Amino acid sequence: MHRLLFGFFCFLPLAAADGSPVRFLGKTKYLNNAHAVVTHTIDDSTKSVIQCIDTMDRYGIKATIFVSTEEDPAPEDVFFTQLQMRELWPRLRQAINNGHEIGSHSRQHPCRKPDSESFCSAAYTDYEITGSRDDILRMTNQPHVWSWCYPCGNCANYEFIQKRIAAAGYIVARNYPNEATNGHMRPNVRTWDSNTMNAGYTQAVQHKGTAKNDTVDSAGNDATFDEVYRDGGIYNFMSHPQWLDYGPNEFYERHLARISGRKDVWYVPMGPLYAFRTLAGHTTVRALDSGRAKARFAVSNDLDGKIYNGSITLAFAAPPDIEVLSGGRKLPSKEGGLTDRWNAEYVRREGERLYVTVRPLTTLEFVAAGTVPPGPDVTGNWKATYTTRNGLKRESTFALKMENGRLTGTITSERGRAPITEGRIAGHELAFTVVRKGNGDEVAVEYQGRVEGDGMNLRMRFGGHEALDVTARRAP
Ligand SMILES: [Zn+2]
Repeated sequence: MHRLLFGFFCFLPLAAADGSPVRFLGKTKYLNNAHAVVTHTIDDSTKSVIQCIDTMDRYGIKATIFVSTEEDPAPEDVFFTQLQMRELWPRLRQAINNGHEIGSHSRQHPCRKPDSESFCSAAYTDYEITGSRDDILRMTNQPHVWSWCYPCGNCANYEFIQKRIAAAGYIVARNYPNEATNGHMRPNVRTWDSNTMNAGYTQAVQHKGTAKNDTVDSAGNDATFDEVYRDGGIYNFMSHPQWLDYGPNEFYERHLARISGRKDVWYVPMGPLYAFRTLAGHTTVRALDSGRAKARFAVSNDLDGKIYNGSITLAFAAPPDIEVLSGGRKLPSKEGGLTDRWNAEYVRREGERLYVTVRPLTTLEFVAAGTVPPGPDVTGNWKATYTTRNGLKRESTFALKMENGRLTGTITSERGRAPITEGRIAGHELAFTVVRKGNGDEVAVEYQGRVEGDGMNLRMRFGGHEALDVTARRAP
């Protein structure tokens, strides 16, 4: 019956793998092999946040927007210019879709200058740390809250506080040191901070509020950026939206103009930037049997995909006229344009080099241009599981191959190994049969379903019984 489902299809056999000219060269330091990084953070749930995001968007700067999430604080708990959050959420949701990140600045912004161990211990409660995280998850579609910002820069130096922040799942916590002495203006950290739970930044770009020591220094800000850019570093500047003057001739917007629009810069919020470092460090790239392609590679890591869900960039040596598939999907080519999304997927060529920007946990296939097959290559091992009608869990291994467009291979389970017959694959749809022998009897077991990336959802039928659901995942 499954033959009818597919009726008609054809595959072009692709070039043989032998002498494959595709070579993996390594992971790039920054996404899309950018030369330098610009990351921005802004603090506090004030009315000015919306104007600040609008301004950043005119220049394509991507920021972490740190908000204190209490919707309706009691008057005595309202941090001075705090807006009730419900007016901000719609704009924040839009900002996430546009490549910004929402970070936590606690719920109620507890603040005391100077701080003390007892103040920090009492102030850094679950209500503030996990409560604000959960508010952001509830009010937006952001999959994780990567970034924390210490209100007033308090408590960042206490290890027991850093541990509380890390325990709540934050991967980076930004400080704001020495505000009283204006020491926050030039922390001058030009790369990833080694202590992610007390992470500094390059400089503040803002007025000092109503204070007399106005520290706007456009020339100084620009010069620092120029140095970081020249050295291929991370330019990490922070602001408070309520301490900015807006308008194209004011210092903030002039600085945005200076640092924006550069094709060799990665514009990214702080949390995804730190996540990228871990993701790139933990991801391995392994050459596979080339199967139907010129070359194939497994890209994998053991990280939590909800937290580390961004892209990394892999450099390959590859001849011209090569296309790349990730999980069976052709990656678009990106020529020009800004690198301003942390989770996009694309291919960019520079001479002999092909930069493949991709989310890990996938299989890459390199195929000759114009021969992109209509579906994924399922060659390899798959771990399949299903539950019997009696509620027993069963496992088997599919060892699949594709030969001239036909699906072949074996299935191994506790009942032994059996060859696949009548294998068919067309696009993402596949079907095959295994003949099980036992008790002098032969039973044809028919599988039929769909492959998507590294997973399969199949229906299994035999002997006139009702079909069972089978799921399969790629196995090493
Ligand atoms: Zn604050």
